[in-house]
Amino acid sequence: MARRRQLYEGKAKILFEGPEPGTIVQYFKDDATAFNAQKKGTITGKGVLNNRISEYLMTRLNEIGVPTHFIRRLNMREQLVREVEIIPLEVVVRNVAAGSMSTRLGIQEGTRLPRSIIEYYYKNDALGDPMVSEEHITAFGWAATQDIDDIVQLTLRVNDFLSGLFLGVGITLVDFKLEFGRIYENDDMRIVLADEISPDNCRLWDSKTGEKMDKDRFRRDLGKVEEAYQEVARRLGILPEAGVRDLKGPEMMQ
Ligand code: UDP
Repeated sequence: MARRRQLYEGKAKILFEGPEPGTIVQYFKDDATAFNAQKKGTITGKGVLNNRISEYLMTRLNEIGVPTHFIRRLNMREQLVREVEIIPLEVVVRNVAAGSMSTRLGIQEGTRLPRSIIEYYYKNDALGDPMVSEEHITAFGWAATQDIDDIVQLTLRVNDFLSGLFLGVGITLVDFKLEFGRIYENDDMRIVLADEISPDNCRLWDSKTGEKMDKDRFRRDLGKVEEAYQEVARRLGILPEAGVRDLKGPEMMQ
């Protein structure tokens, strides 16, 4: 196979030029970072699992009419996606207080919020992804008011759908982060869900025991990180065919 051109290497993924114009290949690494990359490590098999989990969730979302960049999974660690112009925002939805919200507002972790709350962070590693308001977003031209309306509608649908989906397998969707991108077709622009949805960017708690099944196990040194990601995949019914043995997956497919 011809060597593909690398477009970008992020903390958890590498992006390559796709086989056709307007497509990109997302390669999922096992690398894990936390606290704005001050903490670094490897979660064995994470890339394989996140590729599967994100494929599964994006496919289910597509089925209910939420537009996403996802096209298809290519192999254990790669998926083909539409090329989008990324909107430089991290859109966080919270159903239960945890993490930075608990710290910032002094709300005990685990407190169910009176309603789902959406927050925006400006995607900028050098600044540590600061929280911003709609005022900042429109004033600095990161997104227009109409774009924000679309993002909120999509985000709330994703939250309702995923909350139900996870609840069905005994998992509480505490909070998660979404990214959106723009696709231009003829004279039209539409906003689609991009990036990935996985235990790297969701807080997932066992509904009965409250046990954490997400990247907080890595952030907070709780141990059994690999097992937690596997358990999420297992409950969703999508553990790789050969089970745990399969998790390392092939190295770079080039
Ligand atoms: N999150 C993320 N990327 C980030 C920051 C947060 O995916 O750069 C996710 C995180 O996994 C959690 C949610 O967004 O599910 C809310 O994170 P929070 O603001 O509480 O920050 P944290 O405590 O993770 O630093």
